[in-house]
Amino acid sequence: MNEIKNEKAIKYDAKSSKAEEFINDAEIISSIEYGRENKDNIELQRELLEKAKNLKGLTHREASVLLHSENEEIMAEMKQIARDIKTRFYGNRIVLFAPLYLSNYCVNGCVYCPYHAKNKNIPRLKLTQDEIRAEVIALQDMGHKRIALELGEDPVNNPLDYVLESIKTIYATKHRNGSIRRVNVNIAATDVESYRKLKEVGIGTYILFQETYNKENYERQHPTGPKSNYAYHTEAMDRAMEGGIDDVGLGVLYGLESYHYELVGLLMHAEHLEAKFGVGPHTISMPRICPADDIDTNDFTNALDDEIFEKLIALIRISVPYTGMIISTREGVEMRRKALELGVSQISGGSKTAVGGYIKDIEEESAQFDVSDSRPLKDVVDWLLELGHVPSFCTACYREGRTGDRFMSLLKSGQIVNCCHPNALITLKEYIEDYGDEEIKAKGNQVIEQSMKTITNPVVVEKTRKFLKKIEDGERDFRF
Ligand code: SF4
Ligand code: SF4
Repeated sequence: MNEIKNEKAIKYDAKSSKAEEFINDAEIISSIEYGRENKDNIELQRELLEKAKNLKGLTHREASVLLHSENEEIMAEMKQIARDIKTRFYGNRIVLFAPLYLSNYCVNGCVYCPYHAKNKNIPRLKLTQDEIRAEVIALQDMGHKRIALELGEDPVNNPLDYVLESIKTIYATKHRNGSIRRVNVNIAATDVESYRKLKEVGIGTYILFQETYNKENYERQHPTGPKSNYAYHTEAMDRAMEGGIDDVGLGVLYGLESYHYELVGLLMHAEHLEAKFGVGPHTISMPRICPADDIDTNDFTNALDDEIFEKLIALIRISVPYTGMIISTREGVEMRRKALELGVSQISGGSKTAVGGYIKDIEEESAQFDVSDSRPLKDVVDWLLELGHVPSFCTACYREGRTGDRFMSLLKSGQIVNCCHPNALITLKEYIEDYGDEEIKAKGNQVIEQSMKTITNPVVVEKTRKFLKKIEDGERDFRF
């Protein structure tokens, strides 16, 4: 990436294997200072926008300058570039997924999470394989094809073997035309051997939120348990990649630390993965602190308002144009709508954040966080169609082995109109045939028909039409 020269940058080794080197605190502080110094430097800000417009991305230092800018014109232009990049790379497709909570046993003491070990208010639950099957069937009956597995860290109650067995159960469960085709996994930092085993059972993305990049703050937020080890946690993605997992998902829990620090740290982490492994993060998630049992958001003085949150979404979109962005049901409908325009390409829908929540009504007693968008998946699909998006249940890349740099090449080649797009239409067709009522079917078919026009390759058009017809005739699971 061409970097706009800045003499004051602290020299550090982005390829280093040590967390405290590749997330270099002095460089973060210096980058924030650099951003502050240039907050009114409109000429530099315009230069940075030009660079972003040309899809060159932005370094952590450059992003810090735009983060500090309060110039209305610059901000409006930045958001417009974010929208354009979103449209160019991700079109109007929105990939849908749901979290699946397996267990809330946890030995850690994260102060922002109700599953922390000392919380005696919530019932501790762990799904058996039969219960997992029942939850998966409930998810399939909604129409989900992609899930994110969630569980606390507890070597006794949630050992790796339990996770591996559960993943096999999930993939093996088939109900009517339903199947879960991609299981992304969000489990505690572990060793290379365990990552290798996760890869072997076929996980999609390995997701691990950093929570905060500020080491001191991190140690305050994680006073007890194995997660309190900042270096082990921060270096987890390196071990995951060494274990063969090449799609990794980053994320900060906004509200723990100043957002200036977090944005710079997050981009440095992405630069580190790119420098060391030649491939950046597959996704970046955008969670904000939100209320839950035992958690009062007023205790977190860094909580973000909506305006800053939107600015962060747009800035991340233009800084790492090739990384998918995810937003969950923590956010309400209106923020999700804006986030989709500004850069988010994946959202959860119909989510339950309690263990066993898809088969029992237990959200209130044991949810990990309060869901703001509680609409069922069918309403989310309807809403996306109304907004002109194409709800997609695509999992094709992972199943075709297009992960890591192969996935990035697809994105960078501009061939997504002839790949992601038909895949989105095919999977939407499956959804409306299997789970849609007459109204959704009519709307969905109309969107599919209109969207066919954006596929440029005539061979792909013809093949897509054939697949759509076969789906109507009862066949399933086609992909490019
Ligand atoms: Fe446990 Fe994860 Fe909650 Fe921390 S955030 S208490 S590790 S479930
Ligand atoms: Fe994602 Fe690949 Fe499907 Fe495109 S084709 S939506 S990149 S899984």
